[in-house]
Amino acid sequence: MTDTSTSNANESPRPSKHFIEQAIDADLAAGKIKGVHTRFPPEPNGYLHIGHAKSICLNFGLAQAYGGTCNLRFDDTNPSKEETEYVESIQDDVRWLGFQWDSLHYASDYFDQLYQWAEKLVLDGLAYVCDLDAEQTRAYRGTLTEPGKNSPHRDRSPQENLELLRQMKTGEFPDGSHTLRAKIDMASPNLNLRDPVMYRIMRAHHHRTGDAWCIYPMYDWAHGQSDSIEGITYSICTLEFENHRPLYDWYCQSLEIHHPRQIEFARLNMTYTVMSKRKLLQLVKENHVNGWDDPRMPTISGLRRRGYTPESIRGFVTDVGVAKFNSTIDVVRLENAVREHLNRVAERRMVVMDPIKLTITNWPAGEVEMVDAINNPEDESAGVRQIPFSGSLLISQDDFQEDAPRKFFRLKKGGAVRLRSGYIIDCHDVVKDDDGNVIEILCTYDPETKSGQDNSGRKVKGTIHWVSAQQAVPVTVRNYDRLFAVENPDRVEEGKTFLDHLNPDSLSVTQAFAEPEIKSATAGDRFQFERLGYYVVDADSSESELVVNRIVPLRDSWGKMVAKGKAN
Ligand code: ATP
Ligand code: MG
Repeated sequence: MTDTSTSNANESPRPSKHFIEQAIDADLAAGKIKGVHTRFPPEPNGYLHIGHAKSICLNFGLAQAYGGTCNLRFDDTNPSKEETEYVESIQDDVRWLGFQWDSLHYASDYFDQLYQWAEKLVLDGLAYVCDLDAEQTRAYRGTLTEPGKNSPHRDRSPQENLELLRQMKTGEFPDGSHTLRAKIDMASPNLNLRDPVMYRIMRAHHHRTGDAWCIYPMYDWAHGQSDSIEGITYSICTLEFENHRPLYDWYCQSLEIHHPRQIEFARLNMTYTVMSKRKLLQLVKENHVNGWDDPRMPTISGLRRRGYTPESIRGFVTDVGVAKFNSTIDVVRLENAVREHLNRVAERRMVVMDPIKLTITNWPAGEVEMVDAINNPEDESAGVRQIPFSGSLLISQDDFQEDAPRKFFRLKKGGAVRLRSGYIIDCHDVVKDDDGNVIEILCTYDPETKSGQDNSGRKVKGTIHWVSAQQAVPVTVRNYDRLFAVENPDRVEEGKTFLDHLNPDSLSVTQAFAEPEIKSATAGDRFQFERLGYYVVDADSSESELVVNRIVPLRDSWGKMVAKGKAN
């Protein structure tokens, strides 16, 4: 067995094994299992989100760590909500995260087998056809404090049940008129064991089986048996299935088939977002976002388009860990994970957002000098690039103040600053418009201070970024921010919905100017724009327009904004 405490490439090592690994170790030691076989079982009714990434990393990760296998299985038992588009996006997302399934399955492939097993339970006297409708079934079920009542159809003979079940299957009854139920215990303290429904009649077109079936298995009836057919050893699911486990076990035991072990873990919840597929679907359908892969969505495709790396997501998930109790993780941890990864791997570029003209008055007219710029100070192998320096530059408005306070270490009148990868400049004057606004900054450069060759001994406190005006390339920048303005958008006052918490400033578009090297970038390329943040080239870019998305700013400014009341 491989040591799971040292995981691959970018993920940081984990000090000790989590409770699922401990359970597996114990089962292996006791000879209960020979290998580790897991599965990731999404329902294809939406795109995957960061919560699913946790389940993916856990299931595939355990298989990798123990030299076992992990299947991808579409849990497609509810035809009314499922679509092929989702099946495809889910496969793309799993692969993009860096995992490959050992085999691909669909619960619908097992419809025949499940049906045969249903007949077996009927003949064994362990299942019956019930004529109660949905509302009556609910009323008979009882409550947490009161036992349920037996259905009046509970004592039909196996032969009668078998005939009725066959009639259900061949379409002789209307939708919702009959169900097949397991005969367990209507007085069980666990409501899931009060004769749960196994099949319902529903004339719905299935994305794979078409109109072949008019009865569809319930989740609990399909899930464990699908695990069993595939020889899964650990059926890992989230905590809300804990009280389904006795039913999972009952089905496997009653059918006398391979019995996987179900283990529950805490689902991932994160601040400033929603994670239910129903809500994500609503955001898409009502155009609050531009599709499932909108860079503000917590979907894997959204995070990918936002510029997140698979390494950063895997690292985040590992860092969060696997627990037995639910909690909410601060989104800052996800943002830090991508900062940390991109700091190591992203090349630097100089891009000026809110430009002001800076003229170097002692620069030889018309001359352009190529200066060396280090691509990534964290990675020497990334090398250097050359960027044009000239007497006509653009810098960010923010980096200049005419009358600056003493602690302002950027450029001010009468002050000096280093232009990154260029020279030290001294500001001697400004040009103003009729309203008194500074429209041009006049400086001289110090030829003895070229970056990398500076023996002048001059020291300045600030370094700022710049681009040469003539060669600068315009870039459209999509500044994405959090989609919701509050930590927990699911918590709403009466009469409001989570949509009332949408952050109206989650997207602002600005025009910026980049050094010319950026022209060779293609969709998906990620950069650190010096002193600003991390950005990715968006697929909307064309020959005529380069579009970039802000992944994260260099530092977390959100805390400060909340304090100032700007974020709400
Ligand atoms: P949602 O509640 O968002 O609709 P779901 O649980 O219905 O999600 P499935 O497609 O059934 O979505 O999930 C596939 C797998 O991913 C399941 O094993 C499920 O437990 C797991 N999963 C879903 N959401 C999370 C989450 N937030 N954290 C961890 N695992 C999750
Ligand atoms: Mg589900």
